[in-house]
Amino acid sequence: MTEIEWNVERIKSSIQDACQAANRLREDVQEIVVTKNRTVDEIQEMYSLGFRHFAENRVEKLLERQAEFPQDDIVWHLIGPLQSRKVKKIIDQIDYFHALDRMSIAEEINKRASKRIPCFIEVNISKEESKHGFEKDQVINTCLQLLDYPMIKLEGLMTMAPLNASSSQIEGYFQELRELKEKLELELDDLESPLSLSMGMSNDYPIAISQGTNYLRIGTAWFTNNKN
Ligand SMILES: *Cc1c(COP(=O)(O)O)cnc(C)c1O
Repeated sequence: MTEIEWNVERIKSSIQDACQAANRLREDVQEIVVTKNRTVDEIQEMYSLGFRHFAENRVEKLLERQAEFPQDDIVWHLIGPLQSRKVKKIIDQIDYFHALDRMSIAEEINKRASKRIPCFIEVNISKEESKHGFEKDQVINTCLQLLDYPMIKLEGLMTMAPLNASSSQIEGYFQELRELKEKLELELDDLESPLSLSMGMSNDYPIAISQGTNYLRIGTAWFTNNKN
């Protein structure tokens, strides 16, 4: 067994366990392979193991990856912040955008996209200065405004826990995002489909599952067994 195979087995079984503990369906949780800083061989191995959801946090890198992996069965997620001037060259190349963090980007996407693009609103739940995203109390109004942008499909909410937070703090942040999503679903009564949550990374994905996440953005843990 390669190190990657070993990690995949370990992570898959802990996703399964977390779903079971939370009484959730396994198919409601989609793991995404974050390929940031990984080699072509490592990503190829993940593809060979059957993974089809891949993510990058930078526009140039994502385009480079697509050139390396032109397989048309890959679902591409952009998970990092997007600058207005880069919207045009990336927006039709991706399947999901996880980091809609300001209104001006929504406007630009609406103007440039030639197909509807599923977007997650990034929420700065932990209120860290350094973090991107809307404040929690701006989210409902923002989403109401987004209904006027036909090219944006409101897919759900995304957040990141602070690096140094304890498990119980992380659980609190993830719970806040879930409750905000539930509130939003009540406010926006003509939603075409239920909203999703994008939360959970290498160090906190079991907690995210317990709080209802639908998309796990896992990078490091697939490739190294170093739980630092
Ligand atoms: C890098 C990154 C991840 C993955 O982080 P790991 O700790 O390596 O699992 C997830 N989400 C975003 C937005 C990232 O930039």
